[in-house]
Amino acid sequence: MDKVIMALKKNGFEANFFENSEDAKIHLLKEIDKNESVGIGGSMTVLDMGIYDVLVDRGNDTYWHWKAEDKKSALEKAVNTEVYLTSSNAITEEGKLVNKDGTGNRVASMIYGHKRVYVIVGKNKVTKNVEEAFKRIETVAAPLNAKRLNLTTPCVYTGVCSDCDSKDRICKAETILSKNPNGTQIFVYIVNEDMGY
Ligand code: SF4
Repeated sequence: MDKVIMALKKNGFEANFFENSEDAKIHLLKEIDKNESVGIGGSMTVLDMGIYDVLVDRGNDTYWHWKAEDKKSALEKAVNTEVYLTSSNAITEEGKLVNKDGTGNRVASMIYGHKRVYVIVGKNKVTKNVEEAFKRIETVAAPLNAKRLNLTTPCVYTGVCSDCDSKDRICKAETILSKNPNGTQIFVYIVNEDMGY
């Protein structure tokens, strides 16, 4: 993990390592001021950590379409928050963040529009390089996410990507963050646990 942390820092990201998700959660909640607004992208990692409820309970204006009745409104409000929380589909030993999105809200917010972005990543998402990262997305993250959403993409049944033309396709915007983008600061939390997919 030292190699990943060093590579991330070389690429301009802030990077921290945590032994477990509880330590990462405590650190994250200290980093976010109670007066700051927070947007959250679709993420099983963030969901499993229970961060949303803590933020809401302590008074942060928090917008997450996964928890909102009016999902469109939550998506729109999450665009303009000071802080954004998400995970990454994969992170490489070269210190690059690799993602595929269906809607694009998550990857767009990782790149621009927020003062700070926190990306929480379990050790299961670390890959050797970008090629392996896309392989991970196409054989693990996308099939499991499509299954979770009750979609009928080919990968749900085969476990591999066929670059489908399915109406349910969830891979529509692909991003590789090679360096920390201008205008925001991305903080990557690497956790020594398997988290999300
Ligand atoms: S392009 Fe289609 S088949 Fe390939 S991973 Fe995405 S949803 Fe699955």
